Amino acid sequence: MKSKSVCVLGAGLCGVSVTWQQEQYGKSVHLVEASNRLGGVLQSKKENGYLLDYGANTFNLRLQETNDLLEKMGVLDHAVDANPQAKKRFIVRNGKIIPLPQSIFSFLTSNFLSPIGKLRLFLEPFIAKGNFNGNESVSEFIKRRLGKEALDYCANPFIGGIYASKPESLSLAHAFPTLYEMEKNSGSILLGSIKAKSERKNIAKSRLISFTNGMEEIVSLISSGIKGKVSMGQKVVKIEKLEIGWRISSRFKNNQLIEKIYDEVICTLPAYKLQDIEWKGIKRSENIEKISKTPDFPLNLVYLGFDREQVKKDLDGFGFLVPSKENMNILGALFSSTLFPDRAPTGKVLLTAFVGGERMPGLTELNDLQTYDLVLRDLFELLKIKGTPDFKHIKRWKRGIPLPDNQMGIRKHAAQELERSNPGLTFSGSHLTGVSLPNCLKAEYSNS
Ligand SMILES: Cc1cc2nc3c(=O)[nH]c(=O)nc-3n(C[C@H](O)[C@H](O)[C@H](O)COP(=O)(O)OP(=O)(O)OC[C@H]3O[C@@H](n4cnc5c(N)ncnc54)[C@H](O)[C@@H]3O)c2cc1C
Repeated sequence: MKSKSVCVLGAGLCGVSVTWQQEQYGKSVHLVEASNRLGGVLQSKKENGYLLDYGANTFNLRLQETNDLLEKMGVLDHAVDANPQAKKRFIVRNGKIIPLPQSIFSFLTSNFLSPIGKLRLFLEPFIAKGNFNGNESVSEFIKRRLGKEALDYCANPFIGGIYASKPESLSLAHAFPTLYEMEKNSGSILLGSIKAKSERKNIAKSRLISFTNGMEEIVSLISSGIKGKVSMGQKVVKIEKLEIGWRISSRFKNNQLIEKIYDEVICTLPAYKLQDIEWKGIKRSENIEKISKTPDFPLNLVYLGFDREQVKKDLDGFGFLVPSKENMNILGALFSSTLFPDRAPTGKVLLTAFVGGERMPGLTELNDLQTYDLVLRDLFELLKIKGTPDFKHIKRWKRGIPLPDNQMGIRKHAAQELERSNPGLTFSGSHLTGVSLPNCLKAEYSNS
């Protein structure tokens, strides 16, 4: 029997991963990518001896199923674990960098929250359950269960670090489904996490990983196991439903048009690209517009290299996050050369600062000089840096991270309706799966 032909659109982590997985089901898969490289957002660049990750810096490996998938893909043998010091994370409070507690003792002695703020955390198991209509924001949830101070000094900087966004804008059920389920099933985050530990869905010891050549390497490793055709420099322009099968039209840079027919299509393109495509013969096509409205905000990554001696503060951790209340320019910074080996030349350190996002999108429009100036003003003070950087670089993302806001449920429903009405068409991509790399690797959105 002839194997089913599938066209996967877009070669970011979702597209490459779904291609590999579809081949395991015995399908004949063609991966089509507009740019001249695989990886999408995952880009690692070597500049002046520094290794820069433009997209994801860390892969948080917790679930057994993710571990198993990476192993089958032949990726895990090449993974590099983060420096154990990366367990130490910092936030800014009253203009100073302070460590987040890692044990009950350091929790009691730390000044990351006031004594009243800490006491409020202990009340969490006694707070009544919410109403579970799925519309609660992350901010409402944290304030209700953990108190206002935890919102300002934990959730706010944390959401700034993961989504470059605000807890007020994100849907709890979609951004943090595990927390939502914990409260629903166990009545409390604390009791829910104790129960989750006993259910052993997680690997024995969670890992923070990357690769020798940066995060882009995960894509080369997965794609080296792909046997089918991979076409780059081919922009998909039209998706047409036929009586039997699907016609995909794409164009090379020189405008040459290529048309091919497949049994199935899996679309992993970014949400904002969906409306650039001509959709023909699709039922319930009004849903495409709904999905394409996924919000995102511009984000700049500012890389700075220094001689180790120039930085007086010990870079002995993951990095630090800045709560909105601290009124600084940056959302936070990674201690990149502490996190993974060979990110900076010998004797140098690399910092990666984040600017913009939903909190301050206007700052991403500043020119390079202005951007370095405002980032350095924050970093000099916080990290006690002397002198000028040895290396400077900016990566500007005009379209940053797709946000799971309170319309996310509507968008997932729209995608499901399109799939039901048009058999053979499937949607994926981080705007539906959730943005974390483990979610993209799974490339399914129904249960994420
Ligand atoms: C700055 C930043 C930092 C991040 N940090 C982390 C982190 O530390 N940890 C973590 O887990 N996650 C992180 N993420 C999230 C994670 O990197 C992304 O969610 C993930 O890489 C997105 O993969 P994707 O396949 O959905 O999309 P993309 O990577 O956007 O891939 C989509 C692909 O589609 C292609 N395409 C677009 N239009 C067409 C067309 N018409 N025809 C053909 N191809 C087309 C694009 O060229 C692209 O290659 C970060 C994201 C950003 C932006």
